[in-house]
Amino acid sequence: MNKRIVILGAGESGCGAAILANKLGFEVFVSDFGSISDKYKKVLDEHGIEWEEKQHTEALILNAQEVIKSPGIPCEAPMVKRVSDAGIPIISEIEFAGRYTKAKMICITGSNGKTTTTSLIYYIFKEAGLNVGLAGNIGNSLALQVAEDDKDYYIVELSSFQLDNMYEFRANVAVLMNITPDHLDRYEHKMQNYVDAKFRILQNQQPDDAFVFWNDDPIIQNELPKHKHGKLYPFAENKKEGLVAYTEEHKIIFTEPTPFNMEQEELSLTGKHNLYNSMAAGISANVAGIRKETIREALKSFTGVEHRLERVAMIDGVEYINDSKATNVNSCWYALQSMKRKTILILGGKDKGNDYSEIADLVREKCNGLIFLGVDNSKLHTFFDSFGIPTVDVRSMQDCVCEARNMAKRGETVLLSPCCASFDLFKSYEDRGEQFKNEVAKYL
Ligand code: ADP
Repeated sequence: MNKRIVILGAGESGCGAAILANKLGFEVFVSDFGSISDKYKKVLDEHGIEWEEKQHTEALILNAQEVIKSPGIPCEAPMVKRVSDAGIPIISEIEFAGRYTKAKMICITGSNGKTTTTSLIYYIFKEAGLNVGLAGNIGNSLALQVAEDDKDYYIVELSSFQLDNMYEFRANVAVLMNITPDHLDRYEHKMQNYVDAKFRILQNQQPDDAFVFWNDDPIIQNELPKHKHGKLYPFAENKKEGLVAYTEEHKIIFTEPTPFNMEQEELSLTGKHNLYNSMAAGISANVAGIRKETIREALKSFTGVEHRLERVAMIDGVEYINDSKATNVNSCWYALQSMKRKTILILGGKDKGNDYSEIADLVREKCNGLIFLGVDNSKLHTFFDSFGIPTVDVRSMQDCVCEARNMAKRGETVLLSPCCASFDLFKSYEDRGEQFKNEVAKYL
C-alpha cells in the first residue's frame, strides 16, 4: 500500500508539498482548519488531490505515516498534538522537498534581514546566470519547484517555525544574520527555545559546507561552541582577525575564498543593517564560486525589497518611508539608526512581548513625534509618555497619515516602522505598507 501523507495547512507550502507528494505517488490528503483560498482549491483539484477545509477530520489524519505541517500552525494546536501523541512524524515542507532534489541549498535565517539577504543572494546568482530558485518564506514553495522545475541552487529563507520541523535537511551554505527576541509567544516565552530553533540551520552541515554569520552577535558567539558546523565565514563592520568581510577606510573587504573589495558607498542598499546583509550575500556568492566582478556589480545594482525601508515620496519637504516589515523592536532600531533627519515614528500593532528599552535612546535622540497605530496602545503610552515627545493615537491608516502630515515639519521624515505585527488592524504587514503608500499618495 502507498505511504499516506497528510498535509496540515493549504497555503503556498502545503499545496506545494501536496503536489510533490502526489507526483511521487504517495496517497495525499490536505486538511486546513481555516478556509482554503480559491486559488489553492483549484490547484489541488487540478491535481486530483483530496482536501478538506474548516475542519480536521481525525480519522483521515491519524492514519497518516507522515504529516507535513505548515509553519503557520503552532505545535500546540490540538490536531498537531494529537498527531504527535499518535507517534506520527511531523516534518516541514522544506524537509520533505529537500529529500527529492540534489540542488545545493543556500539557507538564510536570523531575526531580521532574512528576506533582504535572501533576495540579494538570489539576485547575485541570477546575475551570474545560474539555474537558481527562490524559496522558503518568499515566492513559490520549494516543494512546488522541486516537483515542476527543479533547479541547481535554491536560496531558501528559513523562519524559526520552518526550522522547528527540520531534521535531515542539509544547508550547504547556512547564513545566520542575528538573533534577537522575536516570536517568543510561540516558544513558551523562553529565549533559549527560539535560539535553539535558529541553530537548527546548522544540523547536518558537513565540514565542506559553509556557515556565514554576523560575528558581533553575542548570542551567536555564545552558542557557536555548542554546535557542529561547516567552515566558518564570520563578518562584521570593524576589521578583526579571522573575519572574511569587514570595512576599512570606506571599503568593504572580502577576504575568502576569492579576495576582492568595493567602495562602501557603491552598495545599493543603505544603512548599517544593509551593510551586514550585503556582506552576507557577497560571502555566500563568493563561496559558490561566482566571479568577483559579478558580485560587485550585483551589490551595486540591486533595487531593494518592498516594505523594507522603502522610500515612498517626498511631499512638502517631508520624506515618507515605509518599513512596515519592521515587526519587532530590533528591526525598528536599525531603521531609526539609519535616519539622517528628525523623525515622526509610527509604531504599534499586535505586540509580541516587546521590550521597547532597546529603542529608547534612539527615540529620544531622533524622534519629534510618535504616532501609535493600534487597537491597544496602552503599553506604548506606559513606556513612551514620560519622554516628553508629542504622541497621538490612531486606529486607521487614513488618520495615521493625516496626523503624520500635521506633525511633520519640512526637513523631517515620517517613518512607518511599527515594532509590532499588523494583525490587529490589517491583514498583513504588506497590507499595512500598501495602505500607508496609498494614503501618502493621496497628498502627492
Ligand atoms: P526578515 O525577513 O528577517 O523579517 P527583512 O529583510 O524583511 O527581514 O527586514 C525586516 C526589517 O528588519 C527591515 O525593514 C529593516 O528595518 C530590518 N533589518 C533588515 N536587515 C537587518 C539586519 N541585518 N539587522 C537588523 N535589522 C535588519
